[in-house]
Amino acid sequence: MPGLYLHIPFCKQACHYCNFHFSTTLRSKPAMVAAILRELELQKDYLGGAELTSVYFGGGTPSLLDIGEMEQIFEKIHALYRIAPDAEITLEANPDDLTKEKLRDLRDYTPVNRLSIGIQSFFDDDLRWMNRAHNAAHARHCLRDAAAAGFRDMTIDLIYGAPTTSDAQWAENVRIAMEEGIPHLSCYCLTVEEGTALAHFVHKGSALPVDEEKAARQFEYLQNQTEQRGYEHYEISNFAWPGRHARHNSSYWSGSPYLGVGPSAHSFDGRSRQWNVAHNARYLAALEAGQVPFEREVLTPAQRYNEYVMTGLRTMWGCEKASIEAFGVPFADFFREEVELFLQNGTVEQDETHVRLTRAGKLLADRIAADLFWTDTEA
Ligand code: SF4
Repeated sequence: MPGLYLHIPFCKQACHYCNFHFSTTLRSKPAMVAAILRELELQKDYLGGAELTSVYFGGGTPSLLDIGEMEQIFEKIHALYRIAPDAEITLEANPDDLTKEKLRDLRDYTPVNRLSIGIQSFFDDDLRWMNRAHNAAHARHCLRDAAAAGFRDMTIDLIYGAPTTSDAQWAENVRIAMEEGIPHLSCYCLTVEEGTALAHFVHKGSALPVDEEKAARQFEYLQNQTEQRGYEHYEISNFAWPGRHARHNSSYWSGSPYLGVGPSAHSFDGRSRQWNVAHNARYLAALEAGQVPFEREVLTPAQRYNEYVMTGLRTMWGCEKASIEAFGVPFADFFREEVELFLQNGTVEQDETHVRLTRAGKLLADRIAADLFWTDTEA
């Protein structure tokens, strides 16, 4: 399932919790589009001519691209890459950008067939605390306007665990998302990432650290509600109606190759990973000189094993025993020994072919995966 990712590194304003690569200076947007077109040319053989099953515009805020800029990018992709007729083509969008006109133009002039909307919350106090550019009214209206414009395939992002998000507010966020008939939800626990405004506020005491008990409670509530409404909890942060899983993100979790274009974008060819410079000016200068500015590493067997455990365990299918065996005897023995404790304490379960997290284990996914990681001391 090879995919193409395009990173659009601009945002209207910086959300306090965000550590993605973006700039709030939009001056270089036309030059960035030209550079991305150039990189699409330079990287056209990266996936060996394989047919793309997904194209994903992420960021940053790709909905800041105007329709003409998107048309140019799609023209270039169509000229240089093969796209499957039923490819999933996703645009990340913020509610304040999704005017009725923009939605109509996206539908009429681009092949975008899926919207990933950064709602985060339907409450103004949460949105203000997060420093989002939109308000609760934008959040509500854009979902209806997108549906009215004909977008059937939608996912929304929601954040739980924020200090302003009471249990009652979280319950309402989940209820609204389901009432609006959104087939796919990506729900993330608020995390305090170093280098963000939020980390600065927490360090100086003007913001509270994440209340882990509350976050766990809200996650459990989410699991219960989505299960009752027929959503599959198919990845730790992702819930979907049957048959409506995100194809692009699923390709990351299944280890498929993908090409990432734009500053800070990552690519994977099955054996090595590379990442573009996360700096707009340096990216632009390099592309002007006809170079893609990236660093690359060939994954060691231990890195490939760790990635497989990390991503596999986060999905509802779990880690396949045969795949673990394929990493070789030391890895398979180590996995079997380490997983025993989790099988005994009920955070992990197994059948003939797979090992997966139980419901209780999902609350501890990262910690369990870390204990199953191969480190140099294991060698
Ligand atoms: S809009 Fe998205 S990418 Fe931009 S700062 Fe906010 S969370 Fe980060």
